[in-house]
Amino acid sequence: MTRPPVVAASPNQAPWILGTSPRMTTENYVTSSPSYLVDSHCHLDYPELARDLAGVMARARNVGVGHMLTIGTKISAFPGVLAAAEQYPNVSCSVGIHPHDAATEAETDAAKLIELARHPKVVAFGETGPRLLL
Ligand SMILES: [Zn+2]
Repeated sequence: MTRPPVVAASPNQAPWILGTSPRMTTENYVTSSPSYLVDSHCHLDYPELARDLAGVMARARNVGVGHMLTIGTKISAFPGVLAAAEQYPNVSCSVGIHPHDAATEAETDAAKLIELARHPKVVAFGETGPRLLL
């Protein structure tokens, strides 16, 4: 596979911001030198963000966010999570079931989570962890 050239307009802009990379990989992450912020937990499928996704992405880019991980909270909502990730090369996603949704989510099959995780835009499982409330 030929890696696209790393082209940055400034030292603070990562190639993902410029749309030159189809997907973050270990190889292009390590070999690219520009620094940028990573939003490791966002919910781009939530209606308040999804209805202006282009605006959200533009505002994130303008403050230096180069990559985003949008988090799955329900199997039934995963198509919306994946749709957000598929629209932008600098967005990855996770698949999971939030503990708060486990009782009301019809699909809670681990085999289904594993199947969905095979999609190339899925890089993690989540939300899945228990919450400790102090
Ligand atoms: Zn969350």
